[in-house]
Amino acid sequence: MKLVSYETTDGMASFGYLRGDGIIDLPRAVAIFQVAEDLSLDPLDPMLADVLELLMFDVELFREVAAFVEQHGLAAELTAEDPILLPPFFPKRIIALGRNYAAHAAETGHEPPKEPVFFMKAASSVIGPEEEVIYPKDVGRIDHEVELAVVIGKGGKRIPRHRAMEHVAGYTILNDVTARDMQTRDMAASHPWFLSKSFDTFGPMGPCLALPDEIPDPHNLELKLTVNGEVRQESNTSNLIFNIPDLIASLSRYLTLEAGDVISTGTPEGISPIKPGDVMEATIEGIGTLRNPVVREK
Ligand code: MN
Repeated sequence: MKLVSYETTDGMASFGYLRGDGIIDLPRAVAIFQVAEDLSLDPLDPMLADVLELLMFDVELFREVAAFVEQHGLAAELTAEDPILLPPFFPKRIIALGRNYAAHAAETGHEPPKEPVFFMKAASSVIGPEEEVIYPKDVGRIDHEVELAVVIGKGGKRIPRHRAMEHVAGYTILNDVTARDMQTRDMAASHPWFLSKSFDTFGPMGPCLALPDEIPDPHNLELKLTVNGEVRQESNTSNLIFNIPDLIASLSRYLTLEAGDVISTGTPEGISPIKPGDVMEATIEGIGTLRNPVVREK
């Protein structure tokens, strides 16, 4: 199941799941299911309008509701009209990885790291599908970076590797847009590279939160990024140096992971500059395509 947040053309926010090309509105579907089955469920508040809040519900309920929608032929009636996708949710933290693909480490002139290289990217950089990435003035080269983003569903401290996947709520795509010249300068000066990753709009995320049933093996997913239709990055998550259990175990030794944390697993080789007028499309097998145009800062 793929969960999405969306807005209607009249500005109402809601959430739902993908069905073919459409979105089934979950608050309405759950309400009908509840009446039909005579269940007393906590009401789903569409004002939450955030898939992260949905994770606090029993997602098994959504599967039952989806089966009910099919059995009773309700899909047409419950399909959202002219939805505008939002980021699936707004994370509190984005913990990202540097050099987690050997071929990408090599293209930036680095050896593969012995331990995961974590850094923070401001959560305020997040934008949704089709939203514009604003190309800032006077900062030089800006790059795309397609990444598999792991969403934590159940928090924890000192999570052992063999339990790590139980803490994963699902997966999305993050395009870790980077002001490369600025990052290179900061690294050369032994400064943190936080700012180069954290400009407003530098965190396109989406198009959905793919639950684990959509992703039988997150360590074998094709990922790709095109600019104006031309392939720039193409790899597979089997090339990750540190896999998802490694990352969860490593991070949670130091800090308590929380529901809604995003761990962005790093980008493969093929990083390249973008410019105003470009359109980036980041695709990961089993999740979908995240498309964002680039516009010049006014
Ligand atoms: Mn990155």
